[in-house]
Amino acid sequence: MRRARNAKIIATLGPSSNDLGRITKLFEAGADVFRLNFSHGTHEDHRRRYEIVREVEKAHDRPIGVLMDLQGPKLRVGQFDGGQVELRDGERFVLDMDAAPGTRQRVSLPHPEIFQALKSGMDLLLDDGRIRLRVVDCSDDRAETEVITGGILSDRKGVNVPGAILPLSPLTAKDHADLSFGLDLGVDWVALSFVQRPEDVAEARKLVAGRASIMAKLEKPAAFDRLDEIIELADAVMVARGDLGVELPPENVPSLQKRIVRACRKAGKPVVVATQMLESMVHAPTPTRAEASDVATAIYEGADAVMLSAETASGKYAVDALTMMNRIVTQVERDPNFRQIMDAEHPDPQATANDAITAAARQVAHTVSASAIATYTNSGSTTLRAARERPSVPILSLTPSIGTARRLTLAWGVHGVVTPDVTSVEEMVERATTSASTEGFGGAGDRVVITAGMPFGTPGATNLLRIAWIDG
Ligand code: PGA
Ligand code: MN
Repeated sequence: MRRARNAKIIATLGPSSNDLGRITKLFEAGADVFRLNFSHGTHEDHRRRYEIVREVEKAHDRPIGVLMDLQGPKLRVGQFDGGQVELRDGERFVLDMDAAPGTRQRVSLPHPEIFQALKSGMDLLLDDGRIRLRVVDCSDDRAETEVITGGILSDRKGVNVPGAILPLSPLTAKDHADLSFGLDLGVDWVALSFVQRPEDVAEARKLVAGRASIMAKLEKPAAFDRLDEIIELADAVMVARGDLGVELPPENVPSLQKRIVRACRKAGKPVVVATQMLESMVHAPTPTRAEASDVATAIYEGADAVMLSAETASGKYAVDALTMMNRIVTQVERDPNFRQIMDAEHPDPQATANDAITAAARQVAHTVSASAIATYTNSGSTTLRAARERPSVPILSLTPSIGTARRLTLAWGVHGVVTPDVTSVEEMVERATTSASTEGFGGAGDRVVITAGMPFGTPGATNLLRIAWIDG
């Protein structure tokens, strides 16, 4: 079973995608990676979904990636007497550390670190930016604000402070507990929310200790000050447009998306475009034309993956949303213009043997119309360099590690196959051509371009390029 497209699809699991039947349908409709969103649900919910994904993986004999998404330091106000209040423009409203239920005059904001970072004149955005408060006076445990844009404020709504670098660890106590649970479960990717600095990624990496790969979610303006360093330290990046569009004006999101995708492609790190891609399909069986166009834009930019959130987690049309996304991606990739764009934006190879071989493989594969480029990899890094080339033929990634194959489900154009290490060139050729044929990439007489490192099994030693024929 192989996909007829290069860019990947991530589907978030939730109440609308909770059982074997539905998760199987999502996979068959095109989900390559499933996301467990730890902002919602219990550990038991996540365990059940994880186990179902592994069942689907086994039934279809294809590696599937699982991404755990940590909630991170999402700030929230406390609760109100009566569940909600209405804030009116021009009124005063106080945020404090008092746990008593909120009123029209005040509510608790149980995050002491925030008060220290606030200054007069800063804006606080509540409930995804619907309400705006401006700080007029503040101390270590209290901030008096003026309501700039009022509205209904209800229990536990989120608070964003776009103007400040908050002195917060990227991992809360809840994140620590969730992370150790998820790593024990066996997730392949861990997404870190609200990354502000490269140190945040480094801190998480220590905790993860090689048990999963790390995806930095870019949704704070501060992250853009040191974007390249964050990309360098992370294994992948998500353009988290939901919170990003609250922290910054929505009109800034498109150019930031382009900047992030471009920087990631240059670095050879997988990049995911996420949030509200087919949002209207939470309630409707077809997307708006603008949404179809938004998914297409991400694909034309060369993103590795596009993501569905509420559409598959809690929407009424989960499978339809996936089917639609699959169709849009496939259609864009068939456009001759798409290939032209990929070639025109092709990043230069770095001065390494690996990149030299990989760039040559792309050209050779194109010239001889090969049915695939086959890469041998242990850690996955050789395959990621091949994906960075955005070649015109699919990438067959042969690896002895199921973990590597699962992680690579996120990467552009990669079809992973788990197979034991090879020990000779004959075996290398035989294994690659057989896989290309059994996995549906080509038939007798078709060519496969193979890259590998000799001596076999030496990490990072790609130094061999070979054209082979599939036997009749
Ligand atoms: P979230 O992250 O869904 O966890 O908030 C994505 C985003 O903010 O876009
Ligand atoms: Mn977010």
